[in-house]
Amino acid sequence: MISDKMEVLVKNSSVIRAMFEEGKRLASIYGADKVYDFSLGNPNVPAPSEVNEAIKAVVDEESSTYIHGYMSNSGYEDVRKAISASINRRFGTDFNESNIVMTVGAAGGMNVLFKSILNPGDEVIVFAPYFGEYRSYAANADAKLVTVSPDTTTFQPNIKEFEQLITARTKVVIINTPNNPTGVIYSEDTLRALADVMKRKEVELGTDIVLFSDEPYRELAYDGAVVPYVTGFYDNTVVGYSYSKSLSLPGERIGYLVIPDSLKDAELVKSACNTATRILGFVNAPSLMQRVIARCVDVDVTENIKVYDRNRSALYEGLTLAGFECVKPQGAFYMFMKTPCDDKEFAERAKKYNILVVPGSSFGCPGYVRIAYCVAYETIVGSLDSFRQLAQEFR
Ligand code: PLP
Repeated sequence: MISDKMEVLVKNSSVIRAMFEEGKRLASIYGADKVYDFSLGNPNVPAPSEVNEAIKAVVDEESSTYIHGYMSNSGYEDVRKAISASINRRFGTDFNESNIVMTVGAAGGMNVLFKSILNPGDEVIVFAPYFGEYRSYAANADAKLVTVSPDTTTFQPNIKEFEQLITARTKVVIINTPNNPTGVIYSEDTLRALADVMKRKEVELGTDIVLFSDEPYRELAYDGAVVPYVTGFYDNTVVGYSYSKSLSLPGERIGYLVIPDSLKDAELVKSACNTATRILGFVNAPSLMQRVIARCVDVDVTENIKVYDRNRSALYEGLTLAGFECVKPQGAFYMFMKTPCDDKEFAERAKKYNILVVPGSSFGCPGYVRIAYCVAYETIVGSLDSFRQLAQEFR
């Protein structure tokens, strides 16, 4: 019954989601406190109180038909205005409401953009390790994913190899910083080098290449690390943002695209994204959440960051003491740990200790596992003895 295309996608269905289901199964056998489930990037920190207050205020103060009704497919104008003003204040940009399209999270935004600009056979370049769902999003548009191999010394993009992989069919380059799964933040130098290569290649090949900056973790940066705003480096940039992680709202499905006027054919791309939002069946981003975001664009998430930072330190210290080698994350809430054997085998062996981690192969980077530390502090502390026992197996 199912389509040939879906058959392949179902077979390769997300390892991360499968792990999540395994976590629930183990918790029902051993009890939730005995299972160390680091599989999913589901924030354990509650949404800031301002979000719940805003939900109540919207329901109490705004007209019901307005809150629950249809609006322009790109979203409420006042919401887009509030978002563009906030971006301008924080990053010195010059956007207005016409540059913003409200989306069903970062995933929805990426699918809207890809539907709008990709032709079958176009190439989408990603830097390993990368969020595995990019494969499906490219496949949705019948595009081909091209992977730049990882630089496992810095986990910054390998610029030399990137340049060699750009062809006349390259249409989109995806970057994700702070990065899932490494927690690395791409430096300004890296972004400038990347932009220089893309500008050069556009001239050489006579093509337009879009840099898509996938930024669900933008606010989650530690030790005062700066996450440069990418539109300043390269004109043909589109930014995808999501409130899933910064405001702990992954189930609410709310985010936005920034389509700068500097983008080639910006007006056409805006119209295409508006149409794609409708015809992909989203119609528009969730209305109530848009109204809430209008009141929460500048909510301070410092307290959430402190919680993740405490987890980060405890986990990094514990794993390093146990003898594991980890990339010290600068942002997001993931740790990328080198495995002493094949990463899939390691993830299997970790299950014996009720530890659930995701093999690096799912991110195009074998030899590592991803540990999502957006969990209770007690889970981290409780897991360390099990990690130590697991490390002993390889002595
Ligand atoms: N991009 C990256 C790098 C992610 O890690 C995620 C979710 O984990 C997404 C996109 C999807 O985010 P959203 O829930 O906003 O669709």
